[in-house]
Formats: sequence, structure tokens, C-alpha cells
Amino acid sequence: TDNGKFPNVPDTDYADEELRQKAKQALVQVRNSLGKTYLPLINGEYVPTETIIDSVNPSNPQEIVGKIGLISVQQAQQALQAAKAAFPTWKKTPVRERAGILRKAAEIMERRRHELSAWICLEVGKVLKQADAEVSEAIDFCRYYADEMERLDQGYDYDVAGETNRYLYQPRGLAVVISPWNFPLAIAVGMTVAALVTGNCTLLKPAETSSVIAAKIAEVLVEAGIPQGVFQYVPGKGSQVGAYMVEHPDVHLIAFTGSREVGCRIYRDASIVQPGQKHLKRVIAEMGGKNAIIVDESADLDQAVAGVVYSAFGYSGQKCSACSRVIVLETVYDHFIERFVEATRSLNIGAADEPGTEVGPVIDATAQKRILEYIETGKQEAELALIREAPATGYFVPPTIFKNVSPDAAIAQEEIFGPVVAVTKVKTFDEALTVANGTDYALTGGLYSRTPDHIKRAYAEFEVGNLYINRGITGAIVSRQPFGGFKMSGVGSKAGGPDYLLQFLEPRHVSENI
Ligand code: GLU
Repeated sequence: TDNGKFPNVPDTDYADEELRQKAKQALVQVRNSLGKTYLPLINGEYVPTETIIDSVNPSNPQEIVGKIGLISVQQAQQALQAAKAAFPTWKKTPVRERAGILRKAAEIMERRRHELSAWICLEVGKVLKQADAEVSEAIDFCRYYADEMERLDQGYDYDVAGETNRYLYQPRGLAVVISPWNFPLAIAVGMTVAALVTGNCTLLKPAETSSVIAAKIAEVLVEAGIPQGVFQYVPGKGSQVGAYMVEHPDVHLIAFTGSREVGCRIYRDASIVQPGQKHLKRVIAEMGGKNAIIVDESADLDQAVAGVVYSAFGYSGQKCSACSRVIVLETVYDHFIERFVEATRSLNIGAADEPGTEVGPVIDATAQKRILEYIETGKQEAELALIREAPATGYFVPPTIFKNVSPDAAIAQEEIFGPVVAVTKVKTFDEALTVANGTDYALTGGLYSRTPDHIKRAYAEFEVGNLYINRGITGAIVSRQPFGGFKMSGVGSKAGGPDYLLQFLEPRHVSENI
């Protein structure tokens, strides 16, 4: 296979003083341009809207990052019409040209890397180093999907004597991308450029809390030469314009990443054939996780503790890949808890743009409230091992560890999407696997072990889309760790993997008697 050969772009090396200065300057520059208004891009024009909302810095909600014009249902309708009008030409545009636009976009993001990281840091409260990794991922998605589409464009020849048989791919039509705030650049770019390079006209509706970054994506794609109507940036209320676009008879495909609740609703609504609709819609939905790391008696505890801490508390646990359960064999349980608690006690909690911060805020007041309620639930169902102090201003939630958590407790079953970890004690490795597999989800999982038999069994029996052995369970890299799960974690194939683009295409076959 070609796996591993894709040249991923390197992250910024912040040990380099010069690069550190550049990153700092970018942060200052971005701070100086906060509060601007960003309008939707419909049919090649930035259009005024009736509704404008503020997008704020979760580390300091007084700070308005930008003002976002939200589209109306009528504007969504106009955007869909423009997409429909642009489709015949985009469909015929050679793959080489479409891929060229993605490669240009990658180049622009590389040039604007520090600036984009600063926007991510300030709009969604992600520390700079992780924001920078996200920029790398976005760049990789562009280049990888460009390569992938060129591969698929060759199709397949199944010729026999007297007959040519050609297997080809064509675009589906209109794609609606509904992107999350937690990877506001990487995931939005990944889904969008996948839809575009495969020849679909694409509308990007970002999560409201990350609309400024989505507006930057629009700037990048416009500069890269995307034709008008082919790509449109349509921020709006999910329950209103999001739902309208999902149900619209002209839409062929919805690519969604976000919560289980919304994903399930989209899947259901998209299945209903509307009057005038002449096709069934394809839904790609990446949803939640309740990801576990198993620590067995042979694990290197230094490694395990560091891996669990980063996987659980990195970006305050707001990754669908994050570790929210740790399942520990009883012989090492007390020792693990003690060291896990100590390591968590030393994490720096603070504003995402402060140098040295390891745990920043959560996204907004609603998330903060929901997570704090889960912490209260946890106190009823399990034993509190640690709750840190969190800064008073900003949407902070203290990193929290519960121990002796029963596998069926709410905090061990429901996705919390915050810095809360449930640790469960088990007697045997069999029991560890049973507990690990005992949720509705199957996204990521981890095992720390030096026992070959346990590792072998995990390969076969740990029911997750992405299994990580003796390392952290977040931070999948394009083409190296194609990412995505099954069960209630989602439907569709892995982002950054060899099957991803197939979902955006319609295969055709032509047989010619010669
Ligand atoms: N791909 C990300 C990772 O591996 C997670 C994506 C998400 O949270 O949606 O950490």
C-alpha cells in the first residue's frame, strides 16, 4: 500500500526562537483586528444579513473575536440555486484544475499558518501548539484529497477482447457541510475540500461559535480561485437554515461532524424524500465517543499517565477522540490513580493564548454548565479523586477525575465533551475489554501494555475505529491514522483515508462493444 508515503506538512517547532517570535507577532496582529464583521459568501458576493451575532473568546468572553452575519432561509435558498447553476460547469472542470485549487489553498494556509493558529486560539480557546497542529491537518487534507482524486479519476479498465469496460466516478451534485467548532479549521476544510475536489458544489455551514475561522476558510478558497457558486460560506442557525438545507430536495449529500443528537436528526431528516426530489441523499456523520484507555499490569506507567493526561485534558477534553474513561487492572490501580492525580494536579490551567497554558476554557457557557452538571452527577455516582480550581472569568471547567466508577454510571456511558475522566477498576483483561466495549460508541480506544497476548487480543477485540497502543489516543494524522468510528460514533468512512472520497462520488460503468 501507499500508506505512510504521503508527505505530511511539519508542525511549527516552537523551540525555534524566530518561529516563536513570528507566532507571537501574529497573535498581536490578530488581536488588533478583532471585532470585524464577516458576511456570508453567496454566489461569489459577500452579502448583508438581517441577523448579526458576536463570536467571543472563550478564555475572555468580553473580547469579541468577530461579528457574524447569519443567513436567512431565503438566502439559503438563493445559495442552493447558485450552487445548482454552477454545478454543470464544475462537474466538467478537469480534476487537475479542481485539485490545483486545493493545492493552492494549502499553500495559502501554509503562508498564513501563524495567523490562522492565532484565530483558532482566540475564537475557540485552543492553545497555540494544538492550533498549529490543526493548521497542518487542514493543509494535509487539501494535498491528500487532491492526490486521492487524481488517483480515483483514472477509474478502472475491465476490458476484454471486443469490449471496453470502463469504471468511472462522477460527482453527486450539491453538498452541504455542517462543521464543528472543536476543529474549526481542520475538519471544516477536510469535509469541504473533499466535497469540492470530487466535483460537488458545496455550502459550508459552520458551528456558530467558530464562524470567524470558517470565514477565513472562505477567504482562502476565494484566493485559491474557487469559482463563484461552487463554494459558498453560509453561516446560520442550525435548527433553522441547517435543517432547511438538509431537507432541501436539491441537496445530494450532507457531510456532518458534531454531536450524536444532531447527527441522528440529520440522518433521519435526510432520509425523507421531498416533493420533487429525484435521488436518495448520502449522509456522512462523524459523531461522539466515550473513549477508553486500558492500563494493564505490564504497562509502563510513566508512559500511560502522560498519555492519559494529554488524551483526556488536551483541549479540555473537547475532542471526539478524547479519553473519558480509564480502565485499570486492579494490581496497578492504586498506583495509577495516585500518579494520574499528581500529574493532573500540575497542569497549567489558563487562557489559551497565555504561553505555558496546558488546559484552556471550554467553548461556551452552555457547555460549561452541562459539564459542571456532569461533575455533580459524578459526585453522586462515584468517588471524586481530584477536582482542580479553574479561573473565574472565562468559560473554564476544572479538570476532574472520578475513581471507582461503575461501568454503567452516567459519567461512564454518556459523552461529556469536557475535562472529566471516569476511572474504573477491573480484575482481569477480559473484563477490561468487556467494559471498554460496553458503550454505544466505537471511536477511539487505547491500551498501555507490554504483554504481547493482550496487545494481540486488543487488535482483534477492542471495538473502535481507531485503536492506539502504547500512545495517546488523540491527534490522528492525515493518511497515517485515517480517522473515524462506527456504532453510534458515526456513519461513513474515515477522514484522511483511502475510502473517504468515494462517499462524495457516484460510480458509473460504461461497456462498449467494439
Ligand atoms: N481527529 C481528531 C483526533 O484524532 C478528533 C476529531 C474530532 O474531535 O472530531 O484527535
